[in-house]
Amino acid sequence: MKRVSREHVIFEMNKENEPVLTAVSGETIVFETQDCFSGNVQSESDTVSDIDFSTVNPATGPIYVSDAEVGDTLKVTINRIDIDNKGAVLTAPGLGLLSDGIGAEETAIAKITDSATLYKGYEIPLRKMVGVIGTAPAGDGVNTGTPGDHGGNLDTILLGEGATLYLPVNVKGALLAMGDMHSSMGDGEIMGSGLEVAGEIEVIVEVIKDSDLPLPFIETDELYVTLGSRETMEDASKVALHNMVEFLTAKTDMTFNHAGMFLSLAGDLKVSQAVNPNKTMRVEVRKDLLNK
Ligand code: CA
Ligand code: CA
Repeated sequence: MKRVSREHVIFEMNKENEPVLTAVSGETIVFETQDCFSGNVQSESDTVSDIDFSTVNPATGPIYVSDAEVGDTLKVTINRIDIDNKGAVLTAPGLGLLSDGIGAEETAIAKITDSATLYKGYEIPLRKMVGVIGTAPAGDGVNTGTPGDHGGNLDTILLGEGATLYLPVNVKGALLAMGDMHSSMGDGEIMGSGLEVAGEIEVIVEVIKDSDLPLPFIETDELYVTLGSRETMEDASKVALHNMVEFLTAKTDMTFNHAGMFLSLAGDLKVSQAVNPNKTMRVEVRKDLLNK
């Protein structure tokens, strides 16, 4: 099994990045990932002012998938996530959706067990997930803190073990990179960080030719999920909704109107994160509801 060490990080998803490893379709790859602070927050005395923001959101990679051509779809199946037993969440004036109420910066370090994040005496169920995952965009690079149609800082809680993420291949080789894992995070990520933790991610990468999935697209055991990342939550919602209508009209005999009404009855529009430079919204549809 191939392994990408956590020294190989990028801070921009960019077609000019040198790949650090080559994979073929169907291969299993392990990405070792740093936490989003590049390990610079180790105690509760390390607060936002101590962080060098040029080292935030390292993504491990990129890897070059040799059969991936422009226009293909890259299928990334998350087999396994292992995380450290300790991580950090922090806050500071100006950060996140509660920014106007924050008087002073503060960091909380939390222990992580096999089942929970232990935060100030509360047991928060483990929800191991990958925050940043994406391919290189076709045009200018995009920093790893910003999500978009190429993936990136999607901060979507569904991107955990067993999930499959479909991403666009915008440049030859796709240039897949990932990082920014969380042991627990709520929808919205309202303070701007989850419980930030280092670890490793085992994925299978596959190239799909002639896929018509609207990207990025997530599949779990129970759900089909479209994503939209734009400057406002409203614009992001529209992208995710149009993508789900596109998926439904291709997969079923529904018209645009019928798919829209179906979503009005059975689709769940949710906030993935409301704090990054682009906000990410998602639309979830239960797979079993598509069986007549
Ligand atoms: Ca993130
Ligand atoms: Ca994060």
